Amino acid sequence: MNAHNPRIEPPRLGEPYLLTPGPLTTSYAVKEAMLVDWGSWDGDFRAMTREMRDRLIALLGDGSDAFDCVPMQGSGTFSVEAMLASFIPKDGKALVLANGAYGLRAAQTLDYLGRDYQLLDKGDYLPPRGDEVAQILATDPAISHVVAIHCETSSGILNPVEEISEAVYAAGRKLLVDSMSAFGAIPLEASKIRYEAMVSSANKCIEGVPGFGFILARNSELEAAKGNSHSLSLDVHAQWAHMNKTGQWRFTPPTHVVAAFLEALRAHEAEGGVTGRGRRYIRNRDVMVSGMRELGFETLLDNRWLSPIIVTFFCPADPNFVFSRFYELMKDKGFIIYPGKLTMVDSFRVGCIGQMDEHVMRQVVVAARDSLREMDVAAATPPEAALQERAKLAS
Ligand SMILES: *Cc1c(COP(=O)(O)O)cnc(C)c1O
Repeated sequence: MNAHNPRIEPPRLGEPYLLTPGPLTTSYAVKEAMLVDWGSWDGDFRAMTREMRDRLIALLGDGSDAFDCVPMQGSGTFSVEAMLASFIPKDGKALVLANGAYGLRAAQTLDYLGRDYQLLDKGDYLPPRGDEVAQILATDPAISHVVAIHCETSSGILNPVEEISEAVYAAGRKLLVDSMSAFGAIPLEASKIRYEAMVSSANKCIEGVPGFGFILARNSELEAAKGNSHSLSLDVHAQWAHMNKTGQWRFTPPTHVVAAFLEALRAHEAEGGVTGRGRRYIRNRDVMVSGMRELGFETLLDNRWLSPIIVTFFCPADPNFVFSRFYELMKDKGFIIYPGKLTMVDSFRVGCIGQMDEHVMRQVVVAARDSLREMDVAAATPPEAALQERAKLAS
């Protein structure tokens, strides 16, 4: 497999690594692909759009021929909004499964759209389980669609989409998945997990730069989506129909971003596709987490729920630990980390995705150790309250 694993070189301009869930550290080849200007109507760019769509569909594996790919301008949230508005009919009702910011954002989007929904809010990180979904669907026959977050990036938890999907289809409903931060590294194979549509974006696990998202949906759902959307620009059906007819995007496409993304997709394939990419990220996570644990840091989640995308650590109890200072010290050493999003206790996050490998992750751990020393933090042990919070997950 090593032959397929292209060497990961450090950022050429000496910029810090982004240990964040996107934008993330991209390869030089991806950046270089943006040096050419493309005409959006020109055959060359149309061929690039076609290749990109085909490559994305292929990532769904067996069963992918029932799906088509619709790219959408804007950040990932624009594509989530486009998916929800286009596939949930105006008289439909959603069940939104939330355990963090992105689930809550999906619910907020439905508020804007004026779509009826029920919210299952599990708090900061507890996973929504299949039996809970089954129970709610049994008591509310009006629910037509369930919205699930694959990896909830706010805590880094990998939600159990497989059991959720089973519950949804056993009850005869439809599943929509926000796989923004997981797609490309964690399998979401059409033949193994049933769903109608999923969404992701250019600047996550495929390792492109930000500028657009994409929806992978069943052809049958795309056809049925006509007239559902409240929005001209976010209408997935209209974008799809136009693209299939003309090969063009309806409105100005982010041409340079598409060129970079195509380069990123080729590198993804060379690395061994979803399996190869996932393997590197898992290794990144394992090396980083075990190093951080040796320093005394503790993860919010136990290993079972830990995604290879981003990991939440509790801030140490030592009063000398100040997150803003830790952030600056880490940045001085070449690593941009990410603040936490927990409401109960202080935390921070370290991403495992982007152009980084286990050697980089070892340097991250060394940088964390040195930063603690500079702050005069004797131990990275979290406060008792954090451990009590975590005990809830086990119960
Ligand atoms: C990144 C992300 C999004 C989209 O965020 P944008 O800032 O709009 O790109 C949506 N859902 C999840 C789970 C994400 O990780």
